[in-house]
Amino acid sequence: MKVLIQGASIAGPVLAYWLARYGADVTVVERAPALRKTGGHAIDLFRPAVEVSERMGVLPQIEHLATGTAVLMAHRPWAARPARIDYLKLEKTMSDRHVEIMRDDLSEVYYTACRDDVDFRFCDRITDIADDGTVTFAQAPCERFDVVVGADGLHSGVRQLVFGDVPEQFLGGYLSVVSVPKALAHTGEMTGYFEPDRVAMVYTADHLVDARAVFIFRPRSPIDYDHRAVDRQKVELRNAFAGVSTEVDHWLAELERTPTFYFDAITQLEMATWSRGRVTLVGDAGYCPGPAVGGSTSLAVYGAYVLAGEMARAAGDHATAFATYEKIMTPSVLGSRKLARANATTIVPGSRWGVRALVGIGRAITVLPLSVTQAIARLNDRGVRLYDTMPLPEYDESPEAVAAPGDSV
Ligand SMILES: Cc1cc2nc3c(=O)[nH]c(=O)nc-3n(C[C@H](O)[C@H](O)[C@H](O)COP(=O)(O)OP(=O)(O)OC[C@H]3O[C@@H](n4cnc5c(N)ncnc54)[C@H](O)[C@@H]3O)c2cc1C
Repeated sequence: MKVLIQGASIAGPVLAYWLARYGADVTVVERAPALRKTGGHAIDLFRPAVEVSERMGVLPQIEHLATGTAVLMAHRPWAARPARIDYLKLEKTMSDRHVEIMRDDLSEVYYTACRDDVDFRFCDRITDIADDGTVTFAQAPCERFDVVVGADGLHSGVRQLVFGDVPEQFLGGYLSVVSVPKALAHTGEMTGYFEPDRVAMVYTADHLVDARAVFIFRPRSPIDYDHRAVDRQKVELRNAFAGVSTEVDHWLAELERTPTFYFDAITQLEMATWSRGRVTLVGDAGYCPGPAVGGSTSLAVYGAYVLAGEMARAAGDHATAFATYEKIMTPSVLGSRKLARANATTIVPGSRWGVRALVGIGRAITVLPLSVTQAIARLNDRGVRLYDTMPLPEYDESPEAVAAPGDSV
């Protein structure tokens, strides 16, 4: 069976790994000239994604590249000193198995795990998909595939080709990441400034050559901007964080020099189904609950594992595989959407009271025994512990399970 995947970030390489392991002939097309190595941000891998990584044999590499953030120093405008929050304990409270890692590092680990068995084509993209699976590319000649998968992120090109304009639900906030000099952060520590409707943080890791400043803010009304108008986005960011502190001013000053700048609205996809004909979607392309607020990376890894497993179980019958893939994923997708909608307001509270409550919870977790904080968190299976409750199916991992009779393998 010939499978084409668009997108070589997280979901794409994980899906490619498992499909190749099951015996499929896998091609991945990525529009970037190489694996993206800059401009990433720290992401959370929760239990199901950690276990998928373990089954891929890459967990030691992932753990080795963990950010190692141990402490969050939380500044508030009305407090003379920052609150010291035990970040590791916070993570352990949320998940029994959790790793924080930079997205680019994670992407490279997954890519390295499958690159010898998969045909990766950079600097190209899909421009058309016919019903019989014939794909037109911007660069390469036309080619026919049995299945095409969009793993190309929140603004997926495959989704646009197959489903047209799918409305994204705006969760009220904007997210920006700026690469700043490493000297502006402390290894092992995240420094954060928390105010109503705006949060700015900086962190680094031992192995990084820079630090990343992350800004999340919720303006009174949506910003009308073009996603290509970077200068305008920088103006919006400066205005949103004016007057927070001189430290934040230093991070913002790097906007003049930074090689990498990310800015986007925090939006959620609400598709009831994400497969049509020979095409399906995986990760943010199909069910992004909202970047930075809904655990979307773990959902992407989980979804890629389930899709590959269901294709193997259905012996290449893509219609059956897509239906069971969606059925298995739907409760987790709905749960993560709900979690993201709640997090969009709790992570960036709209009032002083909300900021006090957020930092207060962090302080309580810091002083209480871990067994107590975990026991309390476990009462909230649909919220903070949602990801730890997602069931990971078992699949027959024998090779060639996915090869359909008569198809090229
Ligand atoms: C600033 C920020 C902070 C975040 N923080 C967190 C967090 O703390 N925790 C968490 O779990 N998640 C977080 N996320 C979300 C996380 O990055 C994504 O959920 C995750 O990367 C999804 O992986 P993916 O493979 O589905 O898509 P993506 O990582 O978006 O990858 C899509 C890939 O497809 C490629 N592509 C896109 N369009 C095309 C095209 N037309 N043709 C060819 N290739 C294409 C892109 O170049 C990219 O390589 C954050 C995201 C952002 C932006």
